[in-house]
Amino acid sequence: MRHPFRVVIVTGVPGVGKTTVLSKLEEIAEKEGIRVKIVNYGSYMLETALREGLVENRDQLRHLPLRRQLELQRLAAQKIIEDAANELSGDDVLIIDTHALVRTSAGYWPGLPRHVLDELKPDMIALIEAKPDVIVERQARDRGRYRADIGGVKGVTRLMENARTASLASAVHYASTVVFVENREGAPDEAAAELLSYIKNL
Ligand code: ATP
Ligand code: AMP
Ligand code: MG
Repeated sequence: MRHPFRVVIVTGVPGVGKTTVLSKLEEIAEKEGIRVKIVNYGSYMLETALREGLVENRDQLRHLPLRRQLELQRLAAQKIIEDAANELSGDDVLIIDTHALVRTSAGYWPGLPRHVLDELKPDMIALIEAKPDVIVERQARDRGRYRADIGGVKGVTRLMENARTASLASAVHYASTVVFVENREGAPDEAAAELLSYIKNL
């Protein structure tokens, strides 16, 4: 049911601040002597998709034909665990920056279906959250990414609600705990500290 190292999956709607919070968490963990390896699931998918000439950037992945996304998703889960198993041991923590639900061109699609969970075997699924209007402001400020397809405050609200359901459904398979962490404006370090406090109890 588990890998030797702890596995923490971090989810949340695009632009909520997962990647930002995790870079803070990395700093805090290092100071406290906790060994964490943080990986981005989308980056693993992107590496293959770029090599095959399927996309030019990470925000195009969710608009590929679904069968393609499924194959990229499968390969990413395998490679993430393969890489982690080569580096991590008992007390270490693998943190995976990803999505419980992806808004694809073919509909809402689970980021953590059974075939992914069978590889990752998560101890915890964390949801990073913020108010929908705050998330939309963050998306707008972040010019390097394209997130307009998520659909403004209405789209973010619906995705957030459905992603909560998806996270809980995914947690059932490997008896993962579920935590909700608010990423308050201007305080990603507080969200990081809160998340780390949960991780320490795994
Ligand atoms: P994606 O799923 O699309 O990768 P994400 O959840 O990883 O998105 P980030 O890229 O971390 O989101 O953050 C989106 C934007 O919001 C960035 O410009 C980031 O600087 C900003 N941001 C993140 N957290 C906060 C915060 N607590 N206060 C203010 N701005 C924030
Ligand atoms: P991110 O930078 O976290 O937004 O990831 C980029 C893209 O990778 C997402 O928009 C999705 O298309 C894809 N992605 C990330 N995690 C998953 C996952 N678990 N399952 C399917 N697609 C994913
Ligand atoms: Mg990110």
